[in-house]
Amino acid sequence: MVIPRSVSDFFARESRETPYLVVSLDKAEANYRALVEAMPVALHHYAIKANPHPELLERLAELGCRFECASVTEIETCIRAGARAEDILYGNPLKKAREIAAAHALGVRQYVFDAELELEKIATHAPGAQVICRIVTDGHGAVSPLSIKFGCPADKAEQWLLRAVDLGLVPYGISFHTGSQQLEPASWEKPVADAAGIFTRLKKRGITTLRVVDVGGGFPVAYRSDVPGIDVFGTAINGYITNYFGADAPLVYTEPGRYMAGDAGYILAEVVMVSPSHEPGSDHRWVYLDIGRYGGLVEEKIDYPVVCDQAGGTGPVILAGQTCDSNDVIYPASFGYELPMALKPGDRVVLAHTGAYTTTYSTTLNGFPLLSSLCI
Ligand SMILES: *Cc1c(COP(=O)(O)O)cnc(C)c1O
Repeated sequence: MVIPRSVSDFFARESRETPYLVVSLDKAEANYRALVEAMPVALHHYAIKANPHPELLERLAELGCRFECASVTEIETCIRAGARAEDILYGNPLKKAREIAAAHALGVRQYVFDAELELEKIATHAPGAQVICRIVTDGHGAVSPLSIKFGCPADKAEQWLLRAVDLGLVPYGISFHTGSQQLEPASWEKPVADAAGIFTRLKKRGITTLRVVDVGGGFPVAYRSDVPGIDVFGTAINGYITNYFGADAPLVYTEPGRYMAGDAGYILAEVVMVSPSHEPGSDHRWVYLDIGRYGGLVEEKIDYPVVCDQAGGTGPVILAGQTCDSNDVIYPASFGYELPMALKPGDRVVLAHTGAYTTTYSTTLNGFPLLSSLCI
């Protein structure tokens, strides 16, 4: 794991209190450009919950990226960063009536739903809106599946998109999410096929406004293992669209979150304590950092590379945070982390590829501050 020069220079130069996150805007831009290259005719919507730093949003907005938002605050943050309201997709299928009304007043036109009562709410509070129905996927191949909570069966989508017309809405498309940190490009095949079936059947029933297949996010970041590149996902998805839609190609949307920001970010942290395990026969050391689960490292299946520059041999460690909660263990022994034997309190370590899903998940448990971040 090599830390980019701009980031390591920044860490060497700055004497800010740790922990903090640095996001390389150039790396995020490179990620966006690679996505555009992989799927040139799609419209890409950054799912800002991954990292809503205003400078990151500004950079992406300048590049022509669109945005996927889950709340009115996220919508306002994007508009402040220079996004046009019509380029924002309100992608959360769970919205209060007054949140829909607020988004409508801000000029947001596109709304995702996955239940009939939500469709009725949208009809009342965002009259005339374009609606996209989220269908369920099985989440297979994803490190963090999302389908336990979201998505409806294809037959319901059909029924409700028909009903949308009666409600004065514009049935606009189908969306799905194959699960976060999705490692298998083939996971996109079934939902694309389902979407094509829905398009065909609804066209036969006189619906002419369907345009969008929103293939969601999920594109993975290389943490401690390699993952297929974005070009591999792009080729697979483009292929499924061609196979199942033929000459009648829809407009494809994507909603990447993790992919855009993840490997652009690096957290600098400090070792608070190192102590041997009291388990009989264990040669593990506990390494306690000034960041843990409650400081933003919530994603328990995501194994960030940990980089430190002490010389000499390494040995197995359990990594934990500093709070007084016994759940505040970042990586138990089963993760197989090894760190230098020379590591001691006061040393600094870098947690790499931590640009997504860290700042927004941090808490102030025990009075430790929220994870701060800055862009370079
Ligand atoms: C979280 C989320 C995303 C982004 O998912 P990633 O796995 O980070 O790419 C996209 N769309 C919706 C609706 C989401 O909730």
